[in-house]
Parts: sequence; structure tokens; C-alpha cells
Amino acid sequence: MLNDKAMKCFVTGGAGFIGSHLVDRLIADGHYVSIYDNFSVGKMEFINQHIKSDRFKLVKADLLDLPMLKKSIIGYDVVFHLAANPEARWGIENTELDLKQETIVTYNVLEAMRVGRVRRIVFASSGTIYGETPPLPIAEDYGPVLPISLYGAGKLASEGLVSAFCGTFSMQAWIYRFANVVGSRATHGVIYDFINKLKRNPRQLEILGDGSQCKPYLHVDDCVDGMLFGLKNASDRVNVFNLGCTTTTNVSKIADMLTEEMGLKGVVFRYTGGDRGWPGDVPQFMCNVDKASKMGWKARHTSDEAVRKAIKEILRKE
Ligand code: NAD
Repeated sequence: MLNDKAMKCFVTGGAGFIGSHLVDRLIADGHYVSIYDNFSVGKMEFINQHIKSDRFKLVKADLLDLPMLKKSIIGYDVVFHLAANPEARWGIENTELDLKQETIVTYNVLEAMRVGRVRRIVFASSGTIYGETPPLPIAEDYGPVLPISLYGAGKLASEGLVSAFCGTFSMQAWIYRFANVVGSRATHGVIYDFINKLKRNPRQLEILGDGSQCKPYLHVDDCVDGMLFGLKNASDRVNVFNLGCTTTTNVSKIADMLTEEMGLKGVVFRYTGGDRGWPGDVPQFMCNVDKASKMGWKARHTSDEAVRKAIKEILRKE
């Protein structure tokens, strides 16, 4: 669908971590971009570089405000829907969060698109929809998918809505099930948590679980690249892709890389114990990325390289 013609893109969550990198790339590629973000987590400093561009527009608003969303979304070629509750753990304390900030906001985006006759949606889903299900690595056609976190359930429900709107209202979708995405501007996640803990106490690091949790980490540049590759090269009614890399990194290794990059010696790692960081966490995960790979896309960085690069980028910014 994506071609060399300039597109009018509407990016929900465009002031957030992945969203702001996507916006950088879309603007660099010559497209028009409108961001819709409530700045609950997003930051002006991530998008300030575009404020004066005549190909950039900012709407500061909440996706739960459906009338505002309906008004704002008219006239766009494609919606990149990235706004969501960013942290799977938060659903443990507030069980309504993922229902509202995943499922309801996704319904609102789709309903606003239907009314405004916007036909194409790119949706940021997650590998958490698969739950804790061998065999690994999991391919896109694996089923039944049974998430074990409210976050994963919110993503799966959203995928269902995206598919249903496409089937009923002639819309087209690109659904990406991301691995763990890392890079500069991250405001959550394991690297961000560890850096903050080590800044508070450089002698000791608390590590949730037993440190053996092992997942693929995808650099944000690869993530954005993969999303745009799929959009350009896949043309089914609903296109579903795992977006990750073919290697994994465990949590203890991330702690080692981080202390090394921070130049800290003799840091004592204190493990909270158990096989996972929190209830609902999937400790061993690996997604199969053959589908994207057969079409010609591959992450440029291995998981370890992505983690190392992200650590350097985050530390440099600080
Ligand atoms: P992020 O929190 O940095 O960005 C989300 C943005 O959405 C923020 O700018 C926030 O202010 C905005 N937002 C949240 N709720 C909103 C609302 N109700 N109305 C308007 N704006 C709202 O998160 P991210 O890490 O960039 O993730 C982007 C997307 O990718 C999310 O959907 C997330 O679930 C998904 N995802 C991320 C990862 C990862 O590792 N970061 C992994 C899998 C999936």
C-alpha cells in the first residue's frame, strides 16, 4: 500500500517511544504526519524537532474523547495506532486499565475511521497475545492464543476488533506483534528500570525474577523499518506479522551489559526469585519471524546488539 507518493498519516501515540521514532521516519520520507496524543507518557521533547514543519500537526487529546477523535481523523490515508497502556505490569494494580487503554481506545479509533471513511490501519500489537504456549518460536498462525496478562488480552481483543471492522466495513489492516522494543526515548522496560535503580544505588541492582527470563529484543529502528516494510509489501485484507529478531537475551545478561556500559564494578545483583518478573509475565518467549523474512525483511540487529545499542543510546542522551 505504501508507495513513493506522500501519504497523510495519523499517528496515535506519536509522542511516545516507538511513535516518535515512526514520526521521524515518516517525515524524513516526505509524508504528512498528524500526531494524536494525550501526553500521559509521551513527551514534547521527542517531537519538538517537527513542530515548525508544514508537514506536521499535533493534536493534544485523549482517544477516549470520541467526538474529538472523529473530528481529527478525517482526511488521512492511513492511521498508525500506537497509543496504549505501555506497561503490562500496570494492569495488575488496575484491572480496568487495559480494557480502556487498549480495547476501548482501539474501538474508538476504528469507529472514528469508519465514520470518517479512513480505510487503512496499522496496529501495534504484541507477542504477549500468545500467552505462555510452547512450542517456541511461535508463528503468526499459532492458535488458540490464550494471553496470560490483561495487557495481552487487551491487545488480542483489539486485534479482533481490527479484523472485524476490516471484514464488515471494507477496511484494511497491518497488525504487528512486536517483540520487546528497545532504544532511545524509552520511558519504561527493563533497561529503563535498571538504569533508574542503578542511579539511585550504584552498588546494588534488584532484578525481578531469577534473571533467566529470555526474550527477543528488537531495536526501535528495526521496528519502524519492519512496520513500513509490511505496509509496503503486504496487501491482504488483514496482514499479521510477528516483528522481532531470531535471537534472545536474558535479563541477567542485560544487567551485565548495563553495568559494563555504565562503568560500574562489583555491583551486587539481588534477585527477587521465581521464574518470572511479575504475574502475567511470559518468562521464555520467542517469535517466529519467517513470514516477514520470506518477504525480504530482517531485523538488522541481533537481540544482544539491539540491547547494547539501546543502552548506549539511552546513556548518551542522559
Ligand atoms: P509509549 O507509552 O512510549 O507510547 C504510547 C503513547 O500513547 C504515549 O505517548 C502516550 O502519551 C499515548 N497515549 C496513551 N494513552 C493515550 C490515550 N488514551 N489517548 C491519547 N494518547 C495516549 O509506548 P511504546 O513503547 O512506544 O509503545 C507503542 C505501542 O507499541 C503500544 O501500543 C504498545 O502496547 C506497543 N508495544 C510496545 C512494545 C515495547 O516493547 N515498547 C512491545 C509490544 C507492543
